[in-house]
Amino acid sequence: MEIKKIAILCSGGDAPGMNSAIRAVVRSSLYHNITPIGIYRGYQGLIESDFIELNASSVGNTIQRGGTILQSSRCPDFFKEEIREKAARNLKKYKIDALVVIGGDGSFNGAHLLNTEHQIPVIGIPGTIDNDIAGTEYTIGFDTAVQTAVEAVDKIRDTASSHDRTFIVEVMGRKSPTIALAVGVSTGAEWVVTPQDEHDTKSIAQSIRKGMDRGKKSSIIIVAEGQTPGLSYNIQEELSKKHQIDSKVCVLGHIQRGGSPSAMDRFRASQMGALAIDLLRQNKMNQVCG
Ligand code: ADP
Repeated sequence: MEIKKIAILCSGGDAPGMNSAIRAVVRSSLYHNITPIGIYRGYQGLIESDFIELNASSVGNTIQRGGTILQSSRCPDFFKEEIREKAARNLKKYKIDALVVIGGDGSFNGAHLLNTEHQIPVIGIPGTIDNDIAGTEYTIGFDTAVQTAVEAVDKIRDTASSHDRTFIVEVMGRKSPTIALAVGVSTGAEWVVTPQDEHDTKSIAQSIRKGMDRGKKSSIIIVAEGQTPGLSYNIQEELSKKHQIDSKVCVLGHIQRGGSPSAMDRFRASQMGALAIDLLRQNKMNQVCG
């Protein structure tokens, strides 16, 4: 089938580099005489036909901008079969031949259902700061998020060293340990707590004491937020009550999702955006770029 018109949307949590991917999809489409349609607000915009035709200028000056110019959303309705049927009808009504979805594994589940239930050709571009999608070593946004967190921890380390303090720094990652591990290694943290661990404050306390005994002036514990952000405060309380170690907590939060994408994120996003169009032109569908 010859692809003449494609649509693109961002779904789930935003990630730095999504704009670079949108730009690449749009520019590659135009290069191959394919009309690119932007869908605002993810699957919500798809079921409301919130579409806009994009041109080369629509994505000008966006490669370096964080967030997503198309906006993103979480759309609980998309779990319903009748709503996905409406989405497929909208795509067909506007003669859209294929859909490119930038998002995480949840968004890909939705795209997969659109394909299996309604034969809509879909391609996924992995866009999430968590780098936790099977089948790809890299997801767009991870490098920028890690860099943002590393810069913050370096600053915190300065204060920690000046005051002989222990800091617990909470980074993003509800189900995923990847940001915490990368930040922990890159900042020389004393300990990393991931969502998969039962946190063991006795071992953490022993490690802090051992460091202090050999003259260390500061300790940094990196904690992945887990299902309920704020886990750091529980660890802080246990360290104080059970092990008489005082610490300060810093929850980095959403600053890790924002900001200008790193060169790595721009580059990978550009490659994946171009690949998505190549795959569709080869009639490969229901696949994810990696
Ligand atoms: P991410 O794509 O970052 O993993 P979510 O898991 O929140 O983010 O998913 C984003 C959106 O994708 C959901 O709000 C929903 O609209 C859609 N989605 C997720 N999982 C499914 C599913 N199993 N079936 C249909 N749609 C889904």
